[in-house]
Order: sequence, then C-alpha cells, then structure tokens
Amino acid sequence: MSNFLASALDTLRLSALEAARRALPQRCELCAAASAGELICAACARSLPRLGPACAVCGLPTPGGELCGQCLAHPPPFAATFAAFAYAFPVDRLMHALKYHGRLALSEWSAGALLVEHARRGSTALPDCFVPLPLASDRQRERGYNQASEIARVLARRLAVPLVRDGVRRVRAGPPQAALPWTERARNVRGAFACALDLAGLTIAVVDDVMTTGASLAEFARVLRAAGAARVENWVVARTLPPA
Ligand SMILES: [Zn+2]
Ligand SMILES: [Zn+2]
Repeated sequence: MSNFLASALDTLRLSALEAARRALPQRCELCAAASAGELICAACARSLPRLGPACAVCGLPTPGGELCGQCLAHPPPFAATFAAFAYAFPVDRLMHALKYHGRLALSEWSAGALLVEHARRGSTALPDCFVPLPLASDRQRERGYNQASEIARVLARRLAVPLVRDGVRRVRAGPPQAALPWTERARNVRGAFACALDLAGLTIAVVDDVMTTGASLAEFARVLRAAGAARVENWVVARTLPPA
C-alpha cells in the first residue's frame, strides 16, 4: 500500500474514532466527572499549571515578565512565544495522549487554550499564516498524523488565517530530541529543516505541542527567516521549565 494511502486510511480511522467518542456523553479527560460537554471539566481546568510572568520572546519565567538575560544577550531567531501552560502534570499527560494515542479532540482543546493565552497577552495582531513544526516523514507515517498540524489546523480555522503545510519539511531525522541531554539538542537539529517557500515580509506563527529547550523551534525559525519571513512567533501548548 502506498504511504499516502496508508496515511489517508489512518486519518479516516482516527476521525471515525473521534466521531464515535463525541457521540458519548462527555466525561472529563482527567477526572472522568461529567463535564458539561467540555473535554476538561471546569474544576480540572482551573488547576492546570499556568505560566506566571515570563519573557515574551522565549516564554521562560522572569520576575516581572521582562525579557530574560539570555534573549537580551543572544536574541533568538523567533520574536515571541505564546505558551498556554507550563509542561507539568497533568498537561504532560494530555500532550502524551494527543501525540501518541490519537486523542485528536485534544487538538481542539489545545488550540482553544492557546487562543485564550494570545488574547490574555493583549496580542491583537494576527500572523499571516500558521505553520506546524514539521515531523520527520517516517515518524508521521508511523503515527498517522502530526499533532502540531492538528493544533495548527484548528487555530487557522478559528482565526481565519491560512494554514501552510506544504513547502516546509524536516530533511534529516536525528535521534528524537527527547532522547538527548539538553546541551546536545541544538547541535542535533542543525540543518534539520528545509523551506522551499518565499516568505518575504510575512509574520509566521509556528505551532507545536511542547517547547522544551526551544532548539528545534529556533532552528526552524532560522530557516523561515532565511526564506524571507519578517517575524516568526512560536505558538506552543506547553512550555517546559528548565531544570531547577
Ligand atoms: Zn475534571
Ligand atoms: Zn527569553
């Protein structure tokens, strides 16, 4: 069977599962209480780990929300990071379910949380397009979908902003970033992305589920800027805080 057909069948299978699940009375994904049609009940939603004041560029906590020393000394190729949550329990479980267990309804929920964060930051300017961080093609085939793409699709639809998936790709699949120490991640992603698009003057919002060190997002932003992008923003559901 062709890879394309296999991946189309996977997508069909996942949508059928989602449709079946939606037909059931909604229970909270975290505590299984009745949740009034929401994926996460109101009580669980209130207790999710939020980020406090943070650097607007990289999303890491700073005492008063000012730019962090690292971004001041070495400005990264992206200009802003919007993160809905800190990557901690139980958001880590939700992201795992979205990424590895086909819980695609979580992409709708994730996009909703990101829109709330974007509005909370008083950001009214919309990007010219959303671009999901590309997965290596073999990983996408194994999984049948790219979770970043699922979230980006919802954001694009809800904000009526174009979604761009063609013309950018992962060209080299190193070891998964999660398998590497933080210090080796920047080197592992060097040369990992290619962009065949002319992005001259555009503001690009790159979408991903979790931003860990930011090494992949920085490398991707560098490639988008080299293709002409005027500004690159990261829209991520959860931001990993550095080891204490
Ligand atoms: Zn709950
Ligand atoms: Zn920063």
